[in-house]
Amino acid sequence: MKRRDFLKKAGIGAAAVAATTVNAPAVLAKKTYNWKMVTTWPPKLPVLQDGCERLARRIGELSDGRIKIQVFAGGELVPPLESFQAVSDGTVEVGSGAAYYWAGKEPATQWFAAVPFGLNGQGMSAWFHGGDGLKLWEETYAPFNLVPRPGGSTGVQMGGWFNKKIESINDFKGLKMRIPGLGGKVLAKAGGTVVLLPGGEIFTSLERGVIDATEWVGPLHDLRMGFYQAAKYYYYPGWHEPGTYLEYFFNKKVFDSLPKDLQHIIDAACIETEHWVLAQFEALNGQALQTLINEKKVQLIQFPDQVLADLRKLADEVVAEEAAKSPMATKVNKAFKDFQKVVGTWGSVSEKAYYDIILPKFSLKG
Ligand code: CA
Repeated sequence: MKRRDFLKKAGIGAAAVAATTVNAPAVLAKKTYNWKMVTTWPPKLPVLQDGCERLARRIGELSDGRIKIQVFAGGELVPPLESFQAVSDGTVEVGSGAAYYWAGKEPATQWFAAVPFGLNGQGMSAWFHGGDGLKLWEETYAPFNLVPRPGGSTGVQMGGWFNKKIESINDFKGLKMRIPGLGGKVLAKAGGTVVLLPGGEIFTSLERGVIDATEWVGPLHDLRMGFYQAAKYYYYPGWHEPGTYLEYFFNKKVFDSLPKDLQHIIDAACIETEHWVLAQFEALNGQALQTLINEKKVQLIQFPDQVLADLRKLADEVVAEEAAKSPMATKVNKAFKDFQKVVGTWGSVSEKAYYDIILPKFSLKG
């Protein structure tokens, strides 16, 4: 039977059939996903929380509204440091933070955020996208039912705010400092006391002498916190966080069940936002540093070479101890070190050689 005759007999108009045929794939394609994202950041925190909101918006735009993500800052839906668990168990679909927050779940996570005297932001990006870094990160997060994606680097952080000068490693003895992660473990080895404080309590604690020193991020965020009103000296560089990487993570079951094109869209939006984050940090830190120097008259001081050399020795011990804590940490540390050696050799004849030529003109050594 010819198609037309069949349709006539069945009493179905050709136009109606055509419309159905044309619209069917469009209807299927319009399946939408309504997701929630929880972050570890305070609301409106520049670049960090902004970046999460940007990612959600871009995934919405690129998917033409098929994936809608509602973003919650730390504490709005779940406590900041429970975002990992909330995404892992499927309470929400997406999260953001920095992988060193999850050291208690798996020590290997720390290498994907910041290692004292480790890779800088450029090196981390190279490890993730040009080496085996992202593959190892996926392997580390898979048992937690998570798919990680690099969320951009803060760039080299600042060394912190102090009320006394640091002239030798002994000046850390008895120093009460807010400094998290592996950097904190290094400070403890140097005889300091690590004080953990939520962001909102750091300024008052420094002002009242509850702590002697603090690190935070870089000029942009440090200026907003007003630390220049509570501490005399602003030290650099941030040896403990040389290019801290942020992260996005997705519930693995949810991610794996998406159509391929939506997975590609998420990957593209993540890489785009990753790039945006470092660009923002570089540009805005540059501006904020000028304000700190010229308007706030902050005294900028570089850690003495010997202090950095001594800290580096202690950092090597801390990293080796952490690497021995799990088979995954051992594996990730080895890959990280091998990669750093190779790109470092290249960096010494490229980035470093070039910086040595152009940067002394802008030297701010206090
Ligand atoms: Ca920091």
